[in-house]
Amino acid sequence: MNGATFFLAVNFIIAISFSLVFAVVSTRSRSRSAALWFAAGFAVASLSAICELLVAYTALTRFWAIGAFATVLGGMILLRIGIGDLYGRKSNLLFAICFLVACTILDVLIYNLPRGTVLHAFSYQTPFALVVLASAFAVLSSARRLAIDRALGGLLLVTGLHFFGKAGMAVLAGAGTTAKDYIHTNYALISQSSTAVLMVAVGLTLLSVLVLEIMADERSNSEKDALSGLANRRGFENGVKAAIVREPNVLHAVIICDLDHFKSINDTYGHHGGDLVIRAFGELLKTNAANSIVVGRIGGEEFGVFMPNTTIEMALIFAQSLRAGTMGIRISALPSSFTVTASFGVAELAPGGELADAMRKADAALYEAKRTGRNCVKQAHPGFPPSGPIRVVK
Ligand code: GH3
Ligand code: MG
Ligand code: MG
Repeated sequence: MNGATFFLAVNFIIAISFSLVFAVVSTRSRSRSAALWFAAGFAVASLSAICELLVAYTALTRFWAIGAFATVLGGMILLRIGIGDLYGRKSNLLFAICFLVACTILDVLIYNLPRGTVLHAFSYQTPFALVVLASAFAVLSSARRLAIDRALGGLLLVTGLHFFGKAGMAVLAGAGTTAKDYIHTNYALISQSSTAVLMVAVGLTLLSVLVLEIMADERSNSEKDALSGLANRRGFENGVKAAIVREPNVLHAVIICDLDHFKSINDTYGHHGGDLVIRAFGELLKTNAANSIVVGRIGGEEFGVFMPNTTIEMALIFAQSLRAGTMGIRISALPSSFTVTASFGVAELAPGGELADAMRKADAALYEAKRTGRNCVKQAHPGFPPSGPIRVVK
């Protein structure tokens, strides 16, 4: 086995491995179709290594040589389609098929031209370069601009241009006088080894794009409450921390809302009825809160509202409007006589203050709202409860 044959085998294994990995990733990724196009692209490209070996070791040289060309190009086109899916730069499938057919016919036509001439070398490599450069363009011109996207765009650019380098090298160093000779040339060794390196780099970068996307989705799911569609406690706290970092030197306000007599709603209308009420209250918060306001379901029937750059007076007015809105909630699956109320505790968060302290103060105000008859809004007393760890008094 010579060096180029060895790299053909390596490239086959690399392409098949990526194909399998992308098929597996497609089961977890929101960009499922892109992952499946990548799986198909690498699978088709892997066939070219087999074709190249059949060129060298069987009699049907021309057939397998054209097969090697078409499978590499086909694989690259499939990757371009997947990249188009991922980066919002959809490919025209009919154009892609026509391009593949036209380039394959071109390859048939140039087959008998002397190898290593400028015409042959550039006619052979230009279709590859064009498809990969089109992929680079799709990535670099898209709205996705994470570092990994930039890296992928740059890598595809280099990969696309390297095909012109290959053509130049074939002219200068020779690519064998016949297709059968190719495998024994130094050119084949360099070409196949550079393919191995670039295929691993492109495959791993594409994989990183999809894996990072899956990780971001998992993270956002772990911060979401499935019932209300709001942030859960963790998501709420992270959202608040981010809002404080954005405006560290201003007053903020926190509201804690708790549905009144919720246990009896569950007892009367069942758990499902209670769930509908939680969902409706979440909807009320979503529709009334401006984009800058952070809302979340922080407990069973307890919700948090963080109002950045807001005075306590403004927060009290907002809480009153939520209280009135709660009384107006109607749920079609429950009797028309059904009404729900909620109680609200409001506290301010001064610059440099701790969110946990403000939450504790809002909670104490909520407790007071419950104690004084529910369906009302109470403001936290300054300095109560005192900061620091909670002490349990027996
Ligand atoms: P209060 O007016 O003092 O707030 O009384 P309450 O009945 O609303 O409060 P309590 O804390 O006694 O009961 C809250 C109930 O909320 C108890 C729990 O079973 C119910 N709950 C918690 N999470 C869910 C949920 O996801 N769905 C439903 N349906 N009920 C829930
Ligand atoms: Mg309650
Ligand atoms: Mg409660």
